[in-house]
Amino acid sequence: MSRFPGVRFLTSAASPGQFPPDIGAEVAFAGRSNAGKSSAINAIVRRQGLARASKAPGRTRLVNFFELDAGRRLIDLPGYGYASAPATERRTWAPLIDALRARASLRGLFVIVDVRRGITVGDEGLLEWASPGHRVHVLLSKADKLNRSEASRALGAAAAQLQGRASLQLFSALKGTGVEEAQRTLESWLGQA
Ligand code: GDP
Repeated sequence: MSRFPGVRFLTSAASPGQFPPDIGAEVAFAGRSNAGKSSAINAIVRRQGLARASKAPGRTRLVNFFELDAGRRLIDLPGYGYASAPATERRTWAPLIDALRARASLRGLFVIVDVRRGITVGDEGLLEWASPGHRVHVLLSKADKLNRSEASRALGAAAAQLQGRASLQLFSALKGTGVEEAQRTLESWLGQA
């Protein structure tokens, strides 16, 4: 059963002028390319293929907005971290997320981090972007790839690196690990519709 049965793709924005009206509450999802962000969104919203809309040709470099229910949105940010990304793409990313940060509706940021890779320089950049003023929740994704003791070591290492700058948890879209915890965090940030 979806927590957000009415979820729908709202719009893709290539520039801040295309963002939807800044009314209500929204939470942004970001992560290095291939970190498992689309899978995490699909697992949390419980709509298979929802974030596939963000992966449609031409949409991967756009900011994609989904309406969870009236006045509550999820924002899927373009993946980052490919050094080979054209300079023009990197130049357009910063103004987009700077404009996002200025939105009154933005309640916080989920950062998807491959548990085997740990928090990267690009992820650190996002943490700086979010601070001060925006909460960050880190999903250590693909936790099913590690055994229990490896996963708890990775969790400890990430917590040590974060030093309280973000909350964090283990997550596996494949196995369902941590999905409820992520849903609870998302819903508490968004508040009542
Ligand atoms: P995105 O680029 O960050 O949106 O990442 P995707 O969600 O497309 O996932 C990238 C790759 O990681 C795909 O091959 C997924 O099947 C795989 N993947 C994503 N989540 C999980 C997970 O929880 N467990 C495992 N084992 N693989 C995953």
